Amino acid sequence: MARRSRSAAHHASTRSAVPPVNRANRNHLLAAVPADEYARLLPSLELVAVDVKQLLHKIGDPIEYVYFPGGGFVSDLAALEDGTLVEVATIGREGLVGTDAVLDGGFMSSTAMVQAEMDICYRMHANAFREAMARGGMFREFVTHFAHALFAMVKQYTACNAVHKVEQRLARWLLLAEDRVGTQEFALTQEFLAMMLGVSRPAVTVVAGTLQKAGLINYRRGRVTIIDREALENASCECYRVTTTLLQHIGRRHHGPRRSH
Ligand SMILES: [Zn+2]
Repeated sequence: MARRSRSAAHHASTRSAVPPVNRANRNHLLAAVPADEYARLLPSLELVAVDVKQLLHKIGDPIEYVYFPGGGFVSDLAALEDGTLVEVATIGREGLVGTDAVLDGGFMSSTAMVQAEMDICYRMHANAFREAMARGGMFREFVTHFAHALFAMVKQYTACNAVHKVEQRLARWLLLAEDRVGTQEFALTQEFLAMMLGVSRPAVTVVAGTLQKAGLINYRRGRVTIIDREALENASCECYRVTTTLLQHIGRRHHGPRRSH
């Protein structure tokens, strides 16, 4: 697969700085944090270059950093003993990778793989993250809310993987991917698809072929193009709508009492 040639230059240019103003941050959760809290987080945030397929965490690893995607998305993967990886959730600009850092002693309960080109990604050392959580405020509220939404997403996907048809699940996945990537066309290998759907590669070919013949997508040479979004929404199970609703409220003060300032 062709790696983008601008990659090297890109790495150099994004080394510059994390935005000094919260609203300019590309991660929605960080952008929603009040300015004074953001100013306290800023010294702990750094910009990092990540590549597609890069593992940010492996299951069982101690958590050194938490990551805040500023684009693209990350697959949260369950790992079986034979090496099979199955996607249990995806994490994009609305949240962060590594909530386990505060949920337990700091070991990852899943593997996190960069799934789509991520132009911007911020990271924070796990210790700084725990300190920020201990300070409380809206940051803690948003992270807690996101962790809850992520847990709910995993539950939804568990039911989805057990009950819904592979065609429905593929449609669900493609819709959320388009929302997060922001373009109708994106890279998607058969290997990734098999991982996401928990099926064999030949099965992937059949399923993608079904959606392609129906005119919903075009899939060739490791790239997928969504042709008929509305039909794809109709082809998806309820899980696309449910998970989108879960994620769209992150970073809003919609629950709990408002603070005085
Ligand atoms: Zn479903």
